[in-house]
Amino acid sequence: MTIIKLKKNRQRSLERKHPWVFSGAIDSIKDPPQNGVTVKVVSADGKFLGWGAYSIKSQISIRIWSFDENEKIDTEYFKRQIEQAIELRTQIIDTTNSNAYRLINAESDGLPGLIVDKYNDYIVCQFLSAGAEFWKQEVVKLLSSLLNPTGIYERSDVEVREKEGLLPVSGALFGNEPPDLIEIIENGNQFFVDIKKGHKTGFYLDQRDNRKLLERFSQGKEILNCFSFSGGFSVYALKSGADKVINVDSSIDALELAEKNLALNGISSAAYENINDDVFKYLRKLRDANKQFDIIILDPPKFAESVSQIEKASRGYKDINLLAIKLLRKGGMLFTFSCSGHITTELFNKIIADAALDSGRNVNIVKYLTQSPDHTVSTNFPEGLYLKGLICRVI
Ligand code: SAH
Repeated sequence: MTIIKLKKNRQRSLERKHPWVFSGAIDSIKDPPQNGVTVKVVSADGKFLGWGAYSIKSQISIRIWSFDENEKIDTEYFKRQIEQAIELRTQIIDTTNSNAYRLINAESDGLPGLIVDKYNDYIVCQFLSAGAEFWKQEVVKLLSSLLNPTGIYERSDVEVREKEGLLPVSGALFGNEPPDLIEIIENGNQFFVDIKKGHKTGFYLDQRDNRKLLERFSQGKEILNCFSFSGGFSVYALKSGADKVINVDSSIDALELAEKNLALNGISSAAYENINDDVFKYLRKLRDANKQFDIIILDPPKFAESVSQIEKASRGYKDINLLAIKLLRKGGMLFTFSCSGHITTELFNKIIADAALDSGRNVNIVKYLTQSPDHTVSTNFPEGLYLKGLICRVI
């Protein structure tokens, strides 16, 4: 067992049970262990701090599995952690009308680097850290025995793996190869999900509760769904009586899948329009054509990938929100989101306030939104909170 000693006064974050050790905090390592191997982390004066997975290449050199000195990091440990994560989901998800949700949310479920999502009978995993990769076989065995899925599919085809010295990979890990589209149910609505090629693990499960909120405002409304992806918000709106929805997305594949999803829910093609355009440009076209809407949804991709992009991202959020507020009828509502972890809730609220001010309209915040609760946030890991949103009303 390799023991890794921290520099003097660099133990504070671990004492607060934040699970990351940055390379700069480490004193020196005599025999560096292999990628992903479990190490013991101690303070400069030799006090036990945690058991963690070592990553040779990453700036985050160690991700802590456990802060308990008596814990053994073995298959049993992973079994307990996974069971605990599953138990929470059985409490927070109404499984009678939803069969797709996040089962394991990495750091926030005490399993750094491991994402596990359930899509009906299939499980999709991402192994995003050296430690998660190291335990892959055991995790797959545990998931197959605890959940009895038809198949387990890996979607570790993401850039962050490079930082951990790992290659991007995807493919079946257990059971049957999934079909190209899997059918799921979310709050009683049906969706096709492309778990093999779709964004993230195939679907934006984090928006489940926010889509549900749209239902109560949709009756008889004309709705603009910007960054519509596979039509999540649109299906909810049209099934709850919306008059008309316009989907806007720069991806033709996403719009085609949205069309399939709307048809799957029995919605006639007369009820919606698909626009393949850049939202920044399309909102200006609508402005120039004096168009108006009752509800506008803005759920863009991550604009800030790093701290250095915060300013530019803020300008992007302000731009689309200002345009959207101006396009709303009196009494109209804006569902607006940011999934950039680097944009704090405070900053996002400020951006929306600035957009409202510049629009010259009076805007009320009806509700503060966040990610659905299967996307857990540990109190020790504030980075886990990434999705924030507001429902605003133009008065
Ligand atoms: N609201 C969706 C998720 C949105 S994901 C849901 O509930 O499922 C973001 C989407 O924005 C992606 O589909 C992506 O293709 C699209 N996109 C990214 N940049 C865009 C742009 N500038 N204009 C239009 N669409 C864009």
